Amino acid sequence: MPRLSCLLAGLFVGVVAVAGVSACGPRTASPDGTSRRAPSDPTSYAEPDLVVVKHLSLSLHVDFAARTLSGAAVLDLDWRDPTAGTLVLDTRQLEIRKVMAGDGATWHEVPYALAAPDPLYGEKLTLQLRAGAATASAAPSKVRIEYSTRPEASGLQWLPPELTGTKKAPLMFSQSQAIHARSWVPLQDTPRVRFTYDATLTTPPELVALMSAHNDPDVIRDGSYRFDMPQAIPSYLMAIAVGDLVFRPVSPRSGVWAEPSIIEAAVHEFADTEKMIATAEKLYGPYRWGRYDLLILPPSFPFGGMENPRLSFITPTVIVGDRSLVALVAHELAHSWSGNLVTNSTWSDGWLNEGFTTYVQGRIIEELYGRDVADMDTVIGQRELRDEMATMAPRAQVLALPPIVGQDPDQALSGVAYNKGQWFLAFLEERFGRAAFDAFLRHWFDAHAFSAVETSTFARFLARELVARHPGKVTTAELRTWLYEPGIPPFAVPARSARFDAVDEAARQWVAGSRQASNLGTSTWTTNQWAHFLLQLPKVLPAARLAELDAALHLTGTRNPEIAERWYPLAERGGHLAARPAMRQFLIAMGRRKLIKPIYEALAQTADGLAFARDAFAQARGGYHPITTAMVEGILARSDAAPAAPAAPAAK
Ligand SMILES: [Zn+2]
Repeated sequence: MPRLSCLLAGLFVGVVAVAGVSACGPRTASPDGTSRRAPSDPTSYAEPDLVVVKHLSLSLHVDFAARTLSGAAVLDLDWRDPTAGTLVLDTRQLEIRKVMAGDGATWHEVPYALAAPDPLYGEKLTLQLRAGAATASAAPSKVRIEYSTRPEASGLQWLPPELTGTKKAPLMFSQSQAIHARSWVPLQDTPRVRFTYDATLTTPPELVALMSAHNDPDVIRDGSYRFDMPQAIPSYLMAIAVGDLVFRPVSPRSGVWAEPSIIEAAVHEFADTEKMIATAEKLYGPYRWGRYDLLILPPSFPFGGMENPRLSFITPTVIVGDRSLVALVAHELAHSWSGNLVTNSTWSDGWLNEGFTTYVQGRIIEELYGRDVADMDTVIGQRELRDEMATMAPRAQVLALPPIVGQDPDQALSGVAYNKGQWFLAFLEERFGRAAFDAFLRHWFDAHAFSAVETSTFARFLARELVARHPGKVTTAELRTWLYEPGIPPFAVPARSARFDAVDEAARQWVAGSRQASNLGTSTWTTNQWAHFLLQLPKVLPAARLAELDAALHLTGTRNPEIAERWYPLAERGGHLAARPAMRQFLIAMGRRKLIKPIYEALAQTADGLAFARDAFAQARGGYHPITTAMVEGILARSDAAPAAPAAPAAK
């Protein structure tokens, strides 16, 4: 395949010559004079080879009654092509009122065209800023766009008071990754472009506004908030949240924001945040973003976490009381190096963000809590990767995915990017030794800080900085298999966990009937051991055996979402219908995609389950984020296309 041979050429060239970049693809000279390939990003209309947004200045009013942000965005432009005169921006469902161009002191109105909406990528906004090279007029240095968002903006969720923790005040938050920033700011919505920003927000005076910028721990609530983000970020890291939020410090540079109802539990759960930052710095160099705070969102937040710079957004579903799920914070923090600092150039190279981050997360957990704790996360990740791959097309199983064309990038990111990516880096660490690999990885972050990278960038850097310096440790065929072949490489060594051995034995003996459910030794299990136990059981168990397990272990109605995520699908597949009322409550209370996806998928296997799923979804969707709603609708729609079986086999 052309792409394969192109990337491999890069790998080979890098082995023998440090100067090399592969000879494939169009080239442009970047501002620092180096030659680099300019990949296109099919998920964005932007043309950064012509002009780049360097700074964004937002002034927005947050209107909870109308569910809109309304105001203006001023974009500072850096014209890369002196003959260009057109600025193309990404938008989705924005109400554009007026476009001005100028130098900041004087402005003039300019014509613009908003294209018909594309269901995946939104509306291309084209601003005609000068007639072209033939005219003597200079291209303007700034544009000012007056606009409002729509209530249904895909990147914003507006929660009424009854869906928040306090139930007294409304709450709004953003989720810009992958391409939702365009639904609340007109910009070049591609990770290839980085910009600094400042913002002024007006809100109801009793609420606090936060952004992925400097947030003042001592902020005074007055309905007017000013933000500054001096480090350049890609658009998907734009973030905003407004609600009844309070702050508690964890260390001088770190703390937790949350609704008052959950702040104490959150501070207790995430008390080790400063230790995590210090550990990551020891391994990979200074934390470059100033403060590192956490914002705990309501359960409708569709993801586990979002690595918004300076302010990670975190699901409350990891607050389980025993700090057993804090790997999530290690993950979001790790993005301060992999992703936020060194960024995938397009979403098809998402493993450069997520695989690296999952690896770094494991290293932070190992340093703080021990290898056995980190290994449990890795074993579970690899197990879930294998399960996921069993239903994936081979083309989706490669790390270096082909360009995402005609697809929602939210759907392109799978366990392959996270767990196969981590596995590949663990393979390199094992072959080259930890000392050499740690130095290499730190060098990777330093050498590519605040820039966008592709798989070919990494392949060249790897060949030059690690493979060529330590010959004989890996073969080119092995690297090729990891990067460009589907599946798990046959020579990959699976992770092992000694702490899971006892759990495996308990599962085996209970399934064989030689051990009572009440005698499994669960009193000392952590969340991971519970999850592993449930994953080790046969996918379909007789309803009577599930009832026996449930009676002894009280799984139905568990307050631990990670256990619920594994138990309810098991209960449903086996026809243990007594779990359904609590399952319904779980589906209504939780909007985190990962937790409810396996449950909806299990329900969709039978006609009866599908009817139950539809009913529960109808009750739950008012509290779901648009991203979660789209995921559930996809599962239910696929079931329509392939009619479900009349009843679960084990229920008969
Ligand atoms: Zn991540």
